[in-house]
Amino acid sequence: MIIKTEKGLSRDALRLLLEKLAARLPGCRVIRAAGSLKVSLGAPGKAGGALALVENLPGVASVSLSDLELCPLACARGKKTFRGPFDFSAGPVFIAGPCAVEDERLYLDSAAALKAAGAHGLRAALFKPRSSPYAFQGIGWPGLKIIAKAKKLTGLPLVTEAVDTRQVERLAAVCDVLQIGARNMRNYELLKETAASGLTVLLKRGMRATLREWLLSAEYLFKYGAKKVILCERGDSLNSPGAPLLDLKLLAAAKKLTGLPVLADPSHASRDRRVAAELAVKALKAGADGLLMEASLDPMKARVDGRQTVTVDVFRAIAGKFQCRPRS
Ligand code: PEP
Ligand code: MN
Repeated sequence: MIIKTEKGLSRDALRLLLEKLAARLPGCRVIRAAGSLKVSLGAPGKAGGALALVENLPGVASVSLSDLELCPLACARGKKTFRGPFDFSAGPVFIAGPCAVEDERLYLDSAAALKAAGAHGLRAALFKPRSSPYAFQGIGWPGLKIIAKAKKLTGLPLVTEAVDTRQVERLAAVCDVLQIGARNMRNYELLKETAASGLTVLLKRGMRATLREWLLSAEYLFKYGAKKVILCERGDSLNSPGAPLLDLKLLAAAKKLTGLPVLADPSHASRDRRVAAELAVKALKAGADGLLMEASLDPMKARVDGRQTVTVDVFRAIAGKFQCRPRS
């Protein structure tokens, strides 16, 4: 923690500040420099709580914390290998499927076709968090048997979104990865419950969330029991012409800081299937560890996000370009 002290702070005021720091942060070590104090807190994880204790003290101009201080669990994963339902060491991982599970036959046929086209996992969303309360919200629990059939048919892991803490246990019994959607990246109770399920969690970056906010949400997951976390960049939906659809710099920074796999979602970033296909290639070239992509045999039939859903043929072409070696 670096504390910038106020300009022209008197010796007495500095002494008082050091006394207060020692009282508020027992066990801390302080190194003094001109105009600033470098404070070591002793134990990881203390920094987040310490900030509020320090920033309001007389003589403090500003306090800054590093990502590692604030997110010691999320940022200390650099050397760990990911052992979850996906093998990221063998090249990009492709999770594909329609936005939502709708018609059973179409879903199962799409699942089989996507597997043959190179998918390593299936999108299997039963609950859709929609901006409009009037929009289709997903088929809900009746879809559980459909996705279970798809898993049996293809052998592929299922990725599904939990939008409510009460859904976690039942979804976790059938699925392999629980997705936290962009709207729920800041839903801390949902993060805790999802983490406690023990399943791999796919954490999307919230719209307009900073890298630090995203890392803090990952930190919640690790603190509350998650062992395996996959990050996913999905863009900001700014709708301003010329704005980047996916923040690939932020994706690279998240990868570097955490050592976690980071996917790109070109579908929700672009909202257009042609742009999504281009963006998918761009993201993979920029180092994304894989894609979460909306794809189906018949995007025209979808009740949600059909416009941004690519056909299986388009998906096959993308996956084929980047498939490195066969997986076990
Ligand atoms: C999704 O992937 O199904 C989804 C709803 O995306 P997002 O949370 O990024 O909007
Ligand atoms: Mn969608």
